[in-house]
Amino acid sequence: MSGATDAFVRFENVQKSYDGETLVVKDLNVDIPEGEFLTMLGPSGSGKTTSLMMLAGFEPATHGEIYLDGESINNVPPNKRGIGMVFQNYALFPHMTVAENLAFPLKVRKTGAAEIEEKVQRALDMVELGSFGGRRPAQLSGGQQQRVAVARALVFDPRLILMDEPLGALDKQLREQMQYEIKHIHENLGVTVVYVTHDQAEALTMSDRIAVFEDGIIQQLSTPDALYERPENSFVAQFIGENNKLSGTVREVKGKTCTVELDGGGTVKALAVNVEGVGSRTTLSLRPERVEIAPAKGAVQNQLTGEIRELIYLGDHIRTRMAVSGNEDFIVKVPNSAGNVPLAEGAKVKVGWEAGDCRALDPLAV
Ligand code: ADP
Repeated sequence: MSGATDAFVRFENVQKSYDGETLVVKDLNVDIPEGEFLTMLGPSGSGKTTSLMMLAGFEPATHGEIYLDGESINNVPPNKRGIGMVFQNYALFPHMTVAENLAFPLKVRKTGAAEIEEKVQRALDMVELGSFGGRRPAQLSGGQQQRVAVARALVFDPRLILMDEPLGALDKQLREQMQYEIKHIHENLGVTVVYVTHDQAEALTMSDRIAVFEDGIIQQLSTPDALYERPENSFVAQFIGENNKLSGTVREVKGKTCTVELDGGGTVKALAVNVEGVGSRTTLSLRPERVEIAPAKGAVQNQLTGEIRELIYLGDHIRTRMAVSGNEDFIVKVPNSAGNVPLAEGAKVKVGWEAGDCRALDPLAV
């Protein structure tokens, strides 16, 4: 395939090995359109940072090609790629003022003094630190320092911004606030962002699309809602959001639906998303909010009897932990409005769900 492409960023058959033996990035193929906010999400060690470092130019790809705006950049040094970067340890120069920190990447690019002043002020205004230019980093809070780091990445109008766990060092409240700020900056500027995090809530909040990494492979690349609603395999179903698992054997496949005999008793219908065929093992994935408790007879396609183990009152819903077909950790979120449901620990009740809300996926080891 040639470099001629509509994608703004393209990874084409990219592999990476540090030791010449193990591939930590196995075969990366991703197209990122201009203006997109794309997040690489996955557990520690799954190859996210390595992928970002290859895009930045700090690590060479062992195999494959990376394109930026239609041009191969494999042999372009990092400082010639026009990419802004923000990392967890924001690495501001402590002896310089905030304004001098921001001016630095512009001076390196030989920008004129008047233009530097204008761009620095614009970048500071963008992160709502317009009057902080004269301070030193030590005179700022952690959140403000991180905003300066974001401003410094924006100041030279980069074509692309890369962020690697930029909010990892901040406390929860500040982290959530900064997620919205970065998201809004992205929306206002329309710049392309590639973001790395292991925090799924952060990824769901900020991204246009999310690439879920596991062991050097992208398991699924989708919009946040598709990842949650339509996981394509068990890893993604488990990694994103809360997930009820039921293991069983496929007994029939008819069109998009299959019938599964559960190991713990009972037979249900499910969407045949990722199953091998009749006789194969599968793990069903079912979101807690899609389960109905004490459904009317015939109201939903699948009904089983479960036993309530624990009730936790959470205001808007009651988190109900049940034993259902051998799964002792089956979670149902019962809306607080479901007034007349007989909820009591130890009670046996029917639970039910639609086949369309239950996805038959690759078998997970129990
Ligand atoms: P993530 O960002 O998903 O946590 P990384 O890309 O940092 O994953 O790491 C992927 C794998 O590559 C890990 O097994 C890690 O130990 C290894 N690795 C990362 N950087 C280096 C390096 N500079 N030298 C050798 N191995 C590395």
